[in-house]
Amino acid sequence: MSKDSSGSSLHRSFCRLCYNACDMDVTVVDGKVTKVRGHPENPVYQGFTCLKGRVQPELLRSPERLLHSRRRLPDGSHDTVAFDAAVQDIAARLGRIRDSHGPDAIAFYYGTMATNGVLTRAVLTALRTAIGSRLIFSPATVDKAGKQVAAALHGRWGAPPSGYSEPEIAVLVGINPLVSYQGAPRGNPGKWLRAQAERGMHLAVIDPRRTETARRADTFLQPRPGHDTAILAAMLHVVLAEGLHDAEFVARHVEGVERLRRAVAGFDPATVAREADLDEEALVSLARRFGSTRRGYVSVGTGPNMSGPGTLVEYLALCLDTLCGHVTREGEVVSSAPALLPAGPYHARMTPPWRGADLEPRMPAAGLSTSAAGPPIAGLPAEMAAGHVRALVSCGGNPASAWPGQRAVVSALAGLDLLVQVDPFMSNTARLADYVIAPRMPLETAEMTQHLDMMSALSIGYGVEESYAQHTAAVVDPPAGSEVVEEWRFYFEVGRAMGLQLLLPRAGAAPHRLDMDRAPEAEELLDLLAEGARIELDVVRAADGGSRYPLPENRVLPAEPGWTGKADVGNARMMAALTAPAEPTTTDPSDLRLIPRRVQHVFNSSHHHPSTAHGGLDNPAFLHPQDLLERGLAPGDAVVVASTVGSLRTTVRPDPSLRRGVVSMTHCYGGLPDDESDTTPGVNLGLIVGLETLQPYTGQPVMSNIAVSVTRAP
Ligand code: SF4
Repeated sequence: MSKDSSGSSLHRSFCRLCYNACDMDVTVVDGKVTKVRGHPENPVYQGFTCLKGRVQPELLRSPERLLHSRRRLPDGSHDTVAFDAAVQDIAARLGRIRDSHGPDAIAFYYGTMATNGVLTRAVLTALRTAIGSRLIFSPATVDKAGKQVAAALHGRWGAPPSGYSEPEIAVLVGINPLVSYQGAPRGNPGKWLRAQAERGMHLAVIDPRRTETARRADTFLQPRPGHDTAILAAMLHVVLAEGLHDAEFVARHVEGVERLRRAVAGFDPATVAREADLDEEALVSLARRFGSTRRGYVSVGTGPNMSGPGTLVEYLALCLDTLCGHVTREGEVVSSAPALLPAGPYHARMTPPWRGADLEPRMPAAGLSTSAAGPPIAGLPAEMAAGHVRALVSCGGNPASAWPGQRAVVSALAGLDLLVQVDPFMSNTARLADYVIAPRMPLETAEMTQHLDMMSALSIGYGVEESYAQHTAAVVDPPAGSEVVEEWRFYFEVGRAMGLQLLLPRAGAAPHRLDMDRAPEAEELLDLLAEGARIELDVVRAADGGSRYPLPENRVLPAEPGWTGKADVGNARMMAALTAPAEPTTTDPSDLRLIPRRVQHVFNSSHHHPSTAHGGLDNPAFLHPQDLLERGLAPGDAVVVASTVGSLRTTVRPDPSLRRGVVSMTHCYGGLPDDESDTTPGVNLGLIVGLETLQPYTGQPVMSNIAVSVTRAP
């Protein structure tokens, strides 16, 4: 921290409004944050922040911010409640529900915002475990369940992905790192892509929309929605038919190649290109280029993951990388080794597949089971309606806006015996909640970037390029006169009031028995969670800012003697799904298909706030100008967008970057359904995207490539 003569002080911190964790300079005057800017000398971020991060002074001082917790009254309104009183009543009610209906009658949900909160997730997990509930839900089963299930069906290399280390090629399928900060390393995606282009990396983007990233691509394929599996299968067809794969690597580490070869035999590029409306030569050329590289990656985004065969798309992407030997090889340095978690040892071998679906706990009312991505959110409304789940504790997200099937979700949430929402604003879910716990906001809390290490292990597309870490102390105190608490403290106090012993889960050490006689400090918990990390947290603290933590001698070791595990690129269920694609596709140019659209000024269901609204808080339907013209529609016209699930009213806007036949809208907008008094801008896609059609394996709702009509509103 530095201070000048005017009393203004400058602090290093990092942003926690999304998982990109931008390193920031925070100006504080009279105890208030007045300005946030990217720290210019950070080697990874190079001064980068987005609009959301920079408006934190306005978010902190927003008149809509909750400065005290709220309790719902019988008439549906909320009044202020003291934190201690809220904790005591919540603990008593949770205890009664657990005693009467069992621990699985209490469910927990953490949204995307909680992904960045290492303390929040750890203490929440400690509370859930002490209660005995197995029902912890996350957005993984809304937009990317296929990633973890595909990894389980395929197997995993014994070292972190190599994709970001001097790639020769990157293939981005339905992913736009310049807006979502996924598909390129955490940090500054624009500068990273430019640097890779200067190195000679070939950037290929496959997307129905010419996105911000697609405009920089060397190869851009703009297919009809619903053809992602066929396109990746055609690439595999070319790679295998022309023998471009890394035969030596495959012979040693991979099985199922002949099954895969037979399954992709029917995906000849000419047919696939014709049906997807692509240039055949461009598709074949991309496959050949990919097959001849030994460093690179495929990364699949939420669009394909939200479509019917999300798991299959992810599986085929893994197959492409594996066949081409895109792994960190024996003797190579593991550049992305975790900093704030234990690292290695890493071995040059494949962990064979493990069970990724049909797991416990089951959700009998919904007829669903758990997958490697967790229990499916799609099952919760049915379990709630059946009385199996009677309480939900939710943080870091906004289920009433984020989960598809909005009417069913809202009805189920409203019928709970107890709904607790931790939220700095009166979101849709907060409005339904029995208790709304007012939390501190990020710059008022201490934290570390351990989540970057956790996400690096999840899949290519989420991690860092090089080992990196940052710690931040709380930069400012909460507003005077407020009673806002660190989120983790709420879970600790509920556990204490229930008479539970909380065990803090840790990646690098045994669970730690928290002293329930006194509330711990945040820094104390951070130290406990970082125990066993490759880099001591005190070293990261002392750096006062984000730094790289390379460890040159951290090399991939040979496989252990006698190791026989192999990846499987010919999983029977995946091959069966490939030869009988479940996804509806269309070649009729007059059909319209709904696809998701990420926008810079909100983060899923969070930050829908006027201060970030430079892009508007409405949620128009974007169509190609020619599609508007053919329907006699002009920009701004009011329309009805309808699917088999329902309909919504919005306005239309032209977007020439879309291909014809596509309607592009953003999830998580709008207020509560059927509430005439609700003046929340925008409209929620959960009115036309429901819980009726679920992906196999994961139970994730199909939320993309949905047939819709767009007609002038009466
Ligand atoms: S919200 Fe913006 S500033 Fe904050 S971490 Fe994400 S990209 Fe960075």
